[in-house]
Amino acid sequence: KKQVFDKIQTERKNLPIYAAREALLKEITQNPALVVVGETGSGKTTQLPQYILENFLQDENTEDRIPTVAITQPRRVAAVSIARRVAEEMGVTLGSKVGYSIRFEDCSDPTDTRLKYMTDGMLLRESQIDPLLSKYTVIILDEAHERTLHTDILFGVIKGIMKKRSDLKLIVMSATLEAKLFSDFFDAAKIVYVSGRQYPVQIYYADEEQLDYVDSCITAALQIHLDESAMSPSVSTGDILVFLTGQEEIESVSKILDERARLLPPECLKLLVCPIFANLPSEKQMEVFDPAPPGCRKVILATNIAETSITINGIRFVIDSGLVKSKAYNPKNGLEILKVCNVSKASARQRSGRAGRESAGKCYRLYPEQSHQGLEDYTVPEILRCNLCSVILQLKSMGIKDIMKFDFMNTPSSSGLIKSLEQLLSLGALDKKGDLTPLGTQMSQFPLDPMYALTLIQSQKMNCVQEVLSVVSMLSVETIFYAPQTKRVEANKNKMKFASKTGDHLTLLRVYQEYQAVKKNSNASELQRWCQEHFINYRSMSKVCEVRQQLKEHLESMNIGLTSCGRDLNQVRRCLCAGFFMNAAVRVPNKRMYKTLVSQLEVRIHPSSVLSDPFPDCLIFNQVIMTSNQYIRDVTAIDSAWLPELAPSVYRGHLLDQTNI
Ligand code: ADP
Ligand code: MG
Repeated sequence: KKQVFDKIQTERKNLPIYAAREALLKEITQNPALVVVGETGSGKTTQLPQYILENFLQDENTEDRIPTVAITQPRRVAAVSIARRVAEEMGVTLGSKVGYSIRFEDCSDPTDTRLKYMTDGMLLRESQIDPLLSKYTVIILDEAHERTLHTDILFGVIKGIMKKRSDLKLIVMSATLEAKLFSDFFDAAKIVYVSGRQYPVQIYYADEEQLDYVDSCITAALQIHLDESAMSPSVSTGDILVFLTGQEEIESVSKILDERARLLPPECLKLLVCPIFANLPSEKQMEVFDPAPPGCRKVILATNIAETSITINGIRFVIDSGLVKSKAYNPKNGLEILKVCNVSKASARQRSGRAGRESAGKCYRLYPEQSHQGLEDYTVPEILRCNLCSVILQLKSMGIKDIMKFDFMNTPSSSGLIKSLEQLLSLGALDKKGDLTPLGTQMSQFPLDPMYALTLIQSQKMNCVQEVLSVVSMLSVETIFYAPQTKRVEANKNKMKFASKTGDHLTLLRVYQEYQAVKKNSNASELQRWCQEHFINYRSMSKVCEVRQQLKEHLESMNIGLTSCGRDLNQVRRCLCAGFFMNAAVRVPNKRMYKTLVSQLEVRIHPSSVLSDPFPDCLIFNQVIMTSNQYIRDVTAIDSAWLPELAPSVYRGHLLDQTNI
């Protein structure tokens, strides 16, 4: 163990940031706000917080106040895996001196934890309860270049706090060179550049657009594996990193690669497939960091988590689909759509850079060079392309009355802001003056988007709290059902065994209830087998149970009793209607198409839905995703008479008087 520890200490000293240690510490002491820019993998996220702590502990005069450092990450996986790594580097158990906090999972100690890695969303939530974030001596907003919604809001919130707390230190860390923007925002904060190491990366483009990029990724990975010295296990081979867009895709590619890898000639290196995505249990997440065993090559299948958030050593080949799943928002109709989009040039550059950290590498872009020239230079900040209801609700609950005057780094369009305010008015969260109602206050306390929070709160009136709790928890994970390519038909048949005629929500409820029934009477491995037999994702179900437990505690703390509607499941659908009425759609006569009531958008039911012919006249949905069509997901038939009397603003697109907000 000591040997491992010593080895890690040597590794730490070899990171590029180590050379800048003293200079960084000096600047932190001398400046209230600092911007640190450095190449991905130079050691910013894992090292800088440790330097701050070590430096303090050296200094004997100030022992009365050991600093507490919050380090934000846009992604859960990054927060968890980095905290785990840093705990290992410091030789402490995770959750003690070093911890993490992500939605529905807090692994930190309120008094003991000094370095707290957390999602940006969690720090924002904490600021709702503790407006001065008084627990923290240093706040590090990491991955600032990603410009996620929550990080952007934190910029403004923390700028406000700094006016009231002269003792607070802020460090903004970023991987690209747009440092000036951050520096300007924080009153000309000093910028420190950490020099990195980067070897040349040869870029290859596809000759033409790929019809099926998933298939191209698989072919490319196998081709690289065979071409690149796979026959001589003595040579250091280098691993492959593939950028894909989401869990479902990664899981299906992972299965296919596993199958094909078994057919490789025996003299060939073994291919070790390592997926990484949010729902993966954390031990599994850590496996991607382990070096490939002798005679093996790793293929890492990742979302853009591996672009800058986490650095995996040993990569020499990158396969870039050129795609990312992201949000798009139309302020005219207030709908946020999830879709697979082209990455920006900046992203593509970051992705290829992953191949050249330790030696010269290669990057295969699965699109023609000409398409690359057509890409945007930078990714548009999320705040400019998403629905703002959730953060407005949070800001209002923090006492910020005039959202239009909030200090945004990039101000969202006023039409977008007004639309979101209108929606909050329709949901009953705000009154006509734009002030938070008691209902809105209650909604803001849930770690959920407003419509989900409202659904849960309404379930009290409809005496179906238990059931709605289960449905909302089931909706909080990405995939419940899975369908391996070779067993699609079987998997689908199986899913239909759980299907409710009314649609997906009651289907999810049935799955949850049956899972619970099995769980009661069996051990973990039997439960796992049951899941496998029914093509249900066991890991997702475990997560659902954790989420449900937490939401249940929230409800109890608000004195909301856990009522049940038993078999009268119409109550559950009514309740969904009460929360998601803005997502109601009516059928276009004689077509398999629907039109949303509020936004008049033409949509189709996603093929993953259990709803089938005869299709209902009216329904509600949770999500719009755009692939080959505009699809709605998680769909349930409703009676249009259940739709509440709506605030006129929803149906008529009536604009609120701006000055009141
Ligand atoms: P930056 O934030 O500048 O991008 P990091 O601090 O994330 O850099 O990474 C520094 C180094 O720590 C990298 O070489 C990375 O591979 C290593 N590292 C991070 N997490 C782990 C882990 N779980 N196991 C092994 N090495 C890790
Ligand atoms: Mg980092």
